[in-house]
Amino acid sequence: MPIATRAFAATSAEAPLTPFSFNRRDPGPDDVAIDIKFAGICHSDLHMVHNDMGGSTYPLVPGHEIAGLVTAVGANVTKFKVGDRVGVGCMVDSCRTCASCVEGEEQYCIPGFTGTYGNPDKHSAESGQPITQGGYSDKIVVDQAFVLNIPDSIPLDVAAPLLCAGITTYSPLRHWGVGPGSKVAVVGLGGLGHMAVKQAVAMGAEVTVMSTSDRKKADAERMGAKHFLINSDKAAMKAAAESFDLIINTVSATHEIASHLQLLARDGTMVMLGLTTEGLPVFAVPLLWRRRSVAGSLIGGIRETQEMLDFCAEHGIASDIEVIAPDQINEAYARLEKSDVRYRFVIDIEKLDLAA
Ligand code: NAP
Ligand code: ZN
Ligand code: ZN
Repeated sequence: MPIATRAFAATSAEAPLTPFSFNRRDPGPDDVAIDIKFAGICHSDLHMVHNDMGGSTYPLVPGHEIAGLVTAVGANVTKFKVGDRVGVGCMVDSCRTCASCVEGEEQYCIPGFTGTYGNPDKHSAESGQPITQGGYSDKIVVDQAFVLNIPDSIPLDVAAPLLCAGITTYSPLRHWGVGPGSKVAVVGLGGLGHMAVKQAVAMGAEVTVMSTSDRKKADAERMGAKHFLINSDKAAMKAAAESFDLIINTVSATHEIASHLQLLARDGTMVMLGLTTEGLPVFAVPLLWRRRSVAGSLIGGIRETQEMLDFCAEHGIASDIEVIAPDQINEAYARLEKSDVRYRFVIDIEKLDLAA
């Protein structure tokens, strides 16, 4: 029997999100059925709803920061049992055989992973949905290979944002070898940025936050940042020249990055995480002068996502959140557009009862 599911969906790039009902597939032998308790709002949800990258189809249920409880498991499921606290992030499947998948980097699956929402649904015959539908909903059915264990010490509401924001920052911090003595700058103190600060501090780095105003300075310091820089402050930018080994750039909009390159030490890297769709001019001279790099990074693999959740549990790291009811999603989107977030909106899915 397909599972009746309530949700909030976008019906076009311009329309507000509204209540929507659909069916999830009946769990197959490898599937885990989950009652969603909380879903984070990632800035990528806004990009997808507004069709910023092209290719969005509607109705679209966003949400790829999912935390909930297992309600049923298929016959082959060994990793999970009813009642387990679990999470689902940005992926619900991948080819599992390409070089990236075999190495546990499913986010770089060569034929392409199946996104939690907005991608062709391999199970559409059963669900009746041509595309996958995400976590702004009360139920989801996911193959066990793409379900994560949420450690007991992390409450589900503050765990939800780890499933995208948390792994998207953890993966480059690890890939570029951040540890004691590393000097790391985080550009943009939003959902991703605040996770990057907490994780880099826990890894032993000296962290600087680069922000558009001083509004978030006290919060940055509370999260463990040692320094705070306003991007438009030319004197402060000059004083910070050549000081960072790694810059984690989480800015969600087109912005000037040339001046940021000067802040990298020799062999330093700036990792771009924001889904900006316009070109950002980069000049060769500051790169070659100190063998600097500009790189990108996409979420993280499933194995690394579990490692990140365990790391966060071990270091007492979770997201700073503002819990909202489903009928406040549109207001939260408007605030997120203005960077007015401290530091992740999380939807209380149980309140769908009141909105339906
Ligand atoms: P967010 O919570 O809205 O934070 C973005 C931050 O960027 C804002 O808080 C603001 O920080 C800064 N900012 C915004 N507009 C700016 C501008 N015009 N100039 C300079 N700074 C600006 O967004 P998020 O959820 O963290 O996501 C950030 C970006 O990463 C989005 O584009 C999202 O789609 C993308 N993303 C990528 C991946 C990946 O795998 N690579 C995964 C998740 C999300 P201040 O207030 O401190 O200035
Ligand atoms: Zn995301
Ligand atoms: Zn693959």
